Amino acid sequence: MSIVDTVLTGLDSELAGLRDTYRQLHRHPELSFQEHGTSQLVAEKLASFGYSVQHIGGTGVVGVLANGEGPTVLSRADMDALPVTEATGLPYASTVEGVMHACGHDVHVTALLGAAQLLAQGRDAWSGTFIALFQPAEELGGGSQAMVDDGLAAKVPRPDVVLGQHVMPLPAGVVATATGPVLSAGDSLKVTVHGKGSHGSMPHMSVDPVVLAASIVLKLQTIVSRETKPGEFAVVTVGALNAGTKSNIIPDRAVLLLNIRSYDNKLRTRVLDAIERIVKGECAAAGSPREPEFEFYDQFPLTSNDAGVTEKVTAAFTSHFGGAAVQHASRQTASEDFSRIPDAFGVPYTYWLLGGCDPQTYRAAAARGTVEQDIPANHSPFFAPVVEPTLSMGVQSHVAAALAYLGPN
Ligand code: ZN
Ligand code: ZN
Repeated sequence: MSIVDTVLTGLDSELAGLRDTYRQLHRHPELSFQEHGTSQLVAEKLASFGYSVQHIGGTGVVGVLANGEGPTVLSRADMDALPVTEATGLPYASTVEGVMHACGHDVHVTALLGAAQLLAQGRDAWSGTFIALFQPAEELGGGSQAMVDDGLAAKVPRPDVVLGQHVMPLPAGVVATATGPVLSAGDSLKVTVHGKGSHGSMPHMSVDPVVLAASIVLKLQTIVSRETKPGEFAVVTVGALNAGTKSNIIPDRAVLLLNIRSYDNKLRTRVLDAIERIVKGECAAAGSPREPEFEFYDQFPLTSNDAGVTEKVTAAFTSHFGGAAVQHASRQTASEDFSRIPDAFGVPYTYWLLGGCDPQTYRAAAARGTVEQDIPANHSPFFAPVVEPTLSMGVQSHVAAALAYLGPN
């Protein structure tokens, strides 16, 4: 029997309890940085499994299981829900008005709790330290940073490797891994440009920030189309443009809200530099009386999987689940704040995707070529991972990945 199978012998008897935990979390979703009930449930369970438990970064919880000599593995789950009104009609649908686990973080919490429990029960089979980390507020991009700012790196043993997973609209029963960038870096940027207000009939008395902002919006389009190598990925979106109140008043400022996505940190820097250069250049050309202001918010780092870690974890998945269950993950344009945790320790990581969609439904949609139209994605009010085999795959993935490091070699 493999070491993974040995540790997983307890899974069958724990699954009923894990499904209850999942449904309980799904019924009681909590918004970012308000994960008080979830945090308490996690802390109590970790303590009952024998972990030493700390609260880090507000509602963040970390459990450490020191089990002799050997490597240290940190596995991470996020806990927050979204301001979405659930429309799934599930018997265990959200009971909180306007709040829903629409990104599947309840799956992540339950799966990591299950793995933490089985690794504790099966501790005779492995050696090292296992850390189960439950972070708040992934959806705001600030939860992992809150834990880092609260001294995470000094409060827990330094891991050799950090692992994480996300449930996605892939068939349940499948895990998907990839080396290199799997999720984009995401930046939101508020740009304020200044003009000189005047009466709408007297444009010669003004520096018109509406014309200035319009010019900036158009010129920004050249960053991707003219400055970025064809085939490289970058997105620059102006999601909001606000100026003025009335047709006959020239306002004195305009505010643009930009969203930037990239898979490469050097390219990201080039894009951000180009935005600054273009905005400043357009302001100078317009005769703007004050320097523009730039304010970043909702920033997500790049998620770029380490090749060595990913190969080791993928091999563990293939050996445990069989090759057919392990797919190559395609790059997602979505973003995550997961990588701030390994980056705080300066250690490598891998982050894999966990299938959550009913396999028959998925296969039928795939045969029609309508997966994107017919399968509700994360953040949809209809997002509804099937409980099984999603949960048991999520538990097994965490156990198999951790034991790739903690098991005897
Ligand atoms: Zn999400
Ligand atoms: Zn998510």
